[in-house]
Order: sequence, then structure tokens, then C-alpha cells
Amino acid sequence: MRPFAFQRASDADEAVRAAAPMAPSPNIPQTQSPTQFLAGGTTLIDLMKLDVMRPDRLIDINALSPRLSEIRMYESELRLGGLARMADVAEHPFIQRDYPVIAQSLQLAASQQLRNMATLSGNVLQRTRCSYFRDVSWLACNKRMPGSGCAAIDGVNRGHAILGGSDHCIAAYPGDFAQALIALDASVEILGSSGALTLPFAQLHREPGDTPHLETRLAPGALITAFTVPARPWTRRSLFLKVRDRESYEFAVASAAIALDLEEGVVKQARIALGGLATVPWRARDAESALAGQTLDQARAYEIARIAFAGARPRPGNQFKVELGKRTLVRALLQTAALEV
Ligand code: SF4
Repeated sequence: MRPFAFQRASDADEAVRAAAPMAPSPNIPQTQSPTQFLAGGTTLIDLMKLDVMRPDRLIDINALSPRLSEIRMYESELRLGGLARMADVAEHPFIQRDYPVIAQSLQLAASQQLRNMATLSGNVLQRTRCSYFRDVSWLACNKRMPGSGCAAIDGVNRGHAILGGSDHCIAAYPGDFAQALIALDASVEILGSSGALTLPFAQLHREPGDTPHLETRLAPGALITAFTVPARPWTRRSLFLKVRDRESYEFAVASAAIALDLEEGVVKQARIALGGLATVPWRARDAESALAGQTLDQARAYEIARIAFAGARPRPGNQFKVELGKRTLVRALLQTAALEV
């Protein structure tokens, strides 16, 4: 690991101020900023050891105001501090009851030790597991070195995305919690050098296009302070289904976050997000529209899955993900409809 300077911040404004003098132009990706915030460290430290991320300075934000770790449930929304730990949210009894897709997405991620350490803001910003990205001996990786090419497109791409990719990058977004957030129309609160900002969570991540090194709309030196999730008729009837190569401590090969507003067997509204299959947290809006106002049985679920994957662009190594993704979605839809809420 390369040498770096280390300092601690005691509140959010101090942390952002401390990052500001070192923050380069907003055109530089947040991930390549010379100053990085250190919370749980479960992604950042790994990538520094691998020499993929090379910050000059870390600002420890673990001692920021307890407000940033709060979990608050109001009648109209759920509010989660950016520094809340994954385990605390996953094990929260009211979240398990009223926002089960959130609790399940966190419970199925990582190991208990990692969930105890990792924060929600770090979780949504975790970086791809593409082996070519994480191994600096590979020279062709547009995400790590813009303009260098993409070793995965003609290489080993079993774990890569079939939705949202480009000819420049097909790396799959690795998280689970983000799919729950995007399905439930969450917002993200950000504090940067020019003040506070609230964005729909769906706008945080960027598809790779021809700039795969720009992964989010977060400016260098900006901090995620909170997530808010509106309480809606479909939040209780929600579920996260994760298919992986082994049953614990593994990333999704395919996942689905589903929420349904169901009345007498008819879907009034549906929320569908897919994970393990796309370059960003993926909302299947066409499939949602097609399901609204319909009854949901196995035939309809297959039709919805066909719509959700109509734009899939598989590669030789991940052709199987089209059928796997459809089956995952069908199972998740039928299980969600059968929930007793
Ligand atoms: Fe790099 Fe993306 Fe290609 Fe992986 S898929 S090698 S992250 S450019």
C-alpha cells in the first residue's frame, strides 16, 4: 500500500471543508479524488491494498455527529443516516416489517463482520468486482485507466452485465441495497463544498457509456449524509431475492427487488429493480408499466420478465444470465404477490 496522510473529522461540515482544498475539478471522478473519506473501509482499504485506488489522504468520518448514523421511521418516510451500519438497518424490527426489501437486501450482503463495519453510504458506492478492474496487471480497463480498452469484452465475462453496458465497459454493479433503494423511489442527501443537495437515488449512478470511469454524480469531496425512502402502499409487500454461486458471503449473479401494491389479486402499482445483471442499479420501468392494472400469475410473470430483459445484450460468457434473470424475476414477483401483509 502506498503512503497516505490521515486525519479525523468530527462533523460533516468539517469533513467536507477538509476535503475541499484537495478536491480537484468536478470533471475528475470522485473515485480518483486524492482525498477519500474513510468510514467502514471495507471497499476502500481493499482497493488501496490492490493499488487500484491511490488517495494521498484519508479523512476518517467515523466520529461524525451521531445524527449521520440515525435510523428514523416517520409516518411518511424512512430516514437512514449515511453512516448507519448495514447490520443495524438489516436487523431493525420495524424496517423488517415495513420495508422488508431494504432489510433483506442488507441481510443477504457480505458477512456479519462486514455488515457490522460497513456503512450505507459506502455500500451504495462500492465498486465493481470485475477482475480486470481489480488486478492492475491488466492494462486494458477503461474504468481504471480511461482510454485503455476493456479486457472483459473479449475476455472472461461470466459475471458481467447484460443490461446497461457499452462497448467501453460491461462491469456489473455489485451492490444489493441500491436495488432496494431504487425500487422504492428513495432520495439521497449529499453535502458538498457548495452546500447540501437532494437527488433521486435513481440519478446517483451513471451508466458507463464512453466514460466508465465516471461512476456516480457525486463530486469529489462530497459526502452522502442520508437516504430517505417514502412510505407507500407497496413498501410492506416487498421482497429481495438474490441468486448467487454459493448461499452466503457472495455477490449476486442475479437479483430482484420487488414491491407491489396489490388489491384483490390486481396489481395497482409495481416496483421492479434488478441486480447482478446491470452496470448500475437497474429499474425495469417498462415491466412495471406492463404489470400495472393486471392480475399476476405465472404466465403474466413470464411476460413481465420478457419485457424486463428485452434490451439485454449478453456476451458469450454470460448468455445464461438472460434466462437466469428472467427466472429470478418471475420467482420474486410470485413470492411477493403471495406475501401476507
Ligand atoms: Fe474495466 Fe469495465 Fe472492462 Fe471491467 S468491464 S475491464 S471494469 S472497462
